[in-house]
Amino acid sequence: MPRLPLDNHKPTAKNLSLQHSLDRADDRDRPPGFVIVSLRHTLLSWYGQFGRDLPWRQSRDPYSLWVSEVMLQQTQVKTVMPYYERWLNLFPTIEGLAIAEQQQVLKAWEGLGYYARARNLHRAAQVIVSHHDGVFPDRLVDVIQLPGIGRTTAGGILSAAFNQPVAILDGNVKRVLARLVALQMPPNRALADLWQLSEVLLDQQQPRDFNQAIMDLGATVCTPHQPLCPICPWKEHCQAYNQGIQAKLPMSETRAPLPHKSIGVAVIWNDRGQILIDRRRQEGLLGGLWEFPGGKVEAGETIEACIQREIREELGIEIAVGDRLIVVDHAYSHFRVTLNVHHCRYISGEPQAIECDEVRWVTLADIDQYPFPKANVQIIDALRTKD
Ligand code: SF4
Repeated sequence: MPRLPLDNHKPTAKNLSLQHSLDRADDRDRPPGFVIVSLRHTLLSWYGQFGRDLPWRQSRDPYSLWVSEVMLQQTQVKTVMPYYERWLNLFPTIEGLAIAEQQQVLKAWEGLGYYARARNLHRAAQVIVSHHDGVFPDRLVDVIQLPGIGRTTAGGILSAAFNQPVAILDGNVKRVLARLVALQMPPNRALADLWQLSEVLLDQQQPRDFNQAIMDLGATVCTPHQPLCPICPWKEHCQAYNQGIQAKLPMSETRAPLPHKSIGVAVIWNDRGQILIDRRRQEGLLGGLWEFPGGKVEAGETIEACIQREIREELGIEIAVGDRLIVVDHAYSHFRVTLNVHHCRYISGEPQAIECDEVRWVTLADIDQYPFPKANVQIIDALRTKD
């Protein structure tokens, strides 16, 4: 095993014994070192006492566990819970999900963000029906080929559903392991080593509980800020804690500030009191979701001129731009937007789906049937409260 980039400025007997044990553990013919045994034992005992009681935890159904794993990829447990219950009511089986309309799937996901997760769940369900007779596969090589399932999600599902010894490395686990070995670089630059560490530590007899336990440790004790080291089952062997540097780890990447885009957005009304909405193209950010049309404000352009130009280019119609309805600030993972939303009046032309998949006139009463991104939901709320 390559030596992890530990902080060697303050070596202690515990640090050395941990690294030594990990080095030894690379030789699969030998039993793991006593530190590894101790880490497994203390973590599993702690989990037996303090593990979280989560709705999917008692399940052995790979489909339910898969849904929970995907929902938890970028979202907190308390946000996921109602979505999880609702999803399984709407789509109780893989077959049920596979035959659902994409719009129905996106609507069930509305508000959770990162909509590619929902599209991938849908597509993967169709692959399971067509390639695996509707039965979730139990081999890592098959699972990892499904859309939207990476190595850690596959490990989470296979260990939880089938008690298979497949390691995981989600955000929580990365943080815990980086602190355990006092990693002196951002975790994403040491992924191969962290994967290896996760595999070495994994309890081969109780992989299900071990993976759940290390996730819980990261979520409830080894938290991003102010980890609760005095009550941590790993404090004896944790290098960050023993060196007093746990609050400084894991090291973070230096990030450039997120770019910002100013967007002009139109709520276009016709004479019948309907609003024009469009469905975004499948490929790309928020694909398949509905939105109020608009686009990026060019340099030197007013919001009103931007809206008029964008609507002409994207939908081929003429409008009159009226009062401002609302300004919405929203951050995505790689950029921020400010939506400058104006009421507009339809004047002429037949709306065409020039830069989208579909356009539709809808009433405010019917608009809830369509899945919208979070920032657009604020526009709908404003329409309801300000009308
Ligand atoms: S001792 Fe502290 S830093 Fe180390 S694993 Fe436990 S909570 Fe995290």
